[in-house]
Amino acid sequence: MHSNAEIGQIDRTAVWHGFTQMAHYEPLVIERGEGNWLFDIEGRRLLDGVSSLWCNLHGHNHPTINAAIRDQLGKIAHVTSLGMIGRTAVELTGRLVDVTPDGLNHVFYSSDGSSSVEAALKMAFQYWQQRENPQPQKTKYVAMGAAYHGDTTGGVSLGGVEHFHSLFGPLLFDVLRGPCPDTYRLPENVTPETACDHYFETFRDLVTGQHQQIAAVVMEPLVQGAAGMIMHPEGFLRRVRDLTRELDILLICDEVATGFGRTGKMFACQHEQVSPDLMCIAKGLTGGYLPMAATLASDAVWNAFLGDLDQNKQFFHGHTYSGNPMAAAAGLASLDVFEEEQVLENLPAKIEHLQRCLQPLASHPHVGSIRQRGLMVGIELVEEKASKQPFPAGQTRGARVCRHALDRGVWIRPLGDVIVLMPPLSIQADEIETLVEAVRYGISQEFP
Ligand code: PMP
Repeated sequence: MHSNAEIGQIDRTAVWHGFTQMAHYEPLVIERGEGNWLFDIEGRRLLDGVSSLWCNLHGHNHPTINAAIRDQLGKIAHVTSLGMIGRTAVELTGRLVDVTPDGLNHVFYSSDGSSSVEAALKMAFQYWQQRENPQPQKTKYVAMGAAYHGDTTGGVSLGGVEHFHSLFGPLLFDVLRGPCPDTYRLPENVTPETACDHYFETFRDLVTGQHQQIAAVVMEPLVQGAAGMIMHPEGFLRRVRDLTRELDILLICDEVATGFGRTGKMFACQHEQVSPDLMCIAKGLTGGYLPMAATLASDAVWNAFLGDLDQNKQFFHGHTYSGNPMAAAAGLASLDVFEEEQVLENLPAKIEHLQRCLQPLASHPHVGSIRQRGLMVGIELVEEKASKQPFPAGQTRGARVCRHALDRGVWIRPLGDVIVLMPPLSIQADEIETLVEAVRYGISQEFP
């Protein structure tokens, strides 16, 4: 049998991991998972503090999801969505329409979050070109601040995280950069009380003059995840929704990270009773078991694509694994688990317990902010607390704190100096304590 180190050596020469330069860790070869725990090939047990990659909702090796996948495998593993209908995908579609915000009645399946965003961008573009009274000049998009919307060219165009975005300048779509609705680092003369007005007015000033050229506004509702767990002021999403309606701009909500219970409700939009025109979901859609994503569309968007074939009103876009039955079976089983285990009902107590456990960390001189929305947490380390001065580039501490947490048997990953906690929704009270204790330990080791 190979050791962690031996497999790590083989891996280094041949496997091209995403975000290569960010691989800070010594080899950790994972062989199996059980509930909220991962096991490596040397038998080490690690609490999964980030739901694998923010996707594993109900824990690993869940009997209901495993059984549904096995059952589907015994029937058929692939059905083309070109000219045929997969029964499992149809069943999932009905359930998704039920649990998502009202008015999203049409579901386009793809394989990952990035491709669900790409589909939404193309749908929005085509919508204005081919609806009853076309507006062909509507070709621009608006994205908020430092957003991350995936790695396709459209997603990268929307993204504001500098090192993902700037390299590809000549390839990118025409995107207007909206405000970064950050409630931690407020602009000068803005207070928590005036933050929503400030960001909304900045957004309104940006779009008002140009709304006739704007196809869609794209945003993560409530929390910008990969940008560093940036939490928006309450009411911002609602006001963006109202203004986009007023100005005839589509609203695309990217719920790839925030969807499926993560913020305490099934979808983040539902906190502010918002129904977007298009919504992107992925990560938790199959409980984190199999790759599947979806773009949900309103009747108005869908209707613009209805026409005779010779009218060219088709969506020229499709994937081999669209609506894959295995993934759809996992998706249905995950929604069953939500009901059977009363996942949403049990969340408030977990969210509160996590908040209580995190509180003592706030007084640490290098903890600038602890931001939490549901089971989405960012703990930002700063060089100087009063001024919120970050550590200089090249001297970030986040990865080192996570490395120390590993010594306590807890797997977490940072975004720069923001320690991210995204535990499975199935995390238990004692596991929440283990998770936070490992973060406390990591911080205390890094700043003795
Ligand atoms: N949108 C958001 C908000 C995300 O957080 C991510 C992934 N972190 C994506 C899109 C891209 O999803 P994927 O990695 O599945 O392509």
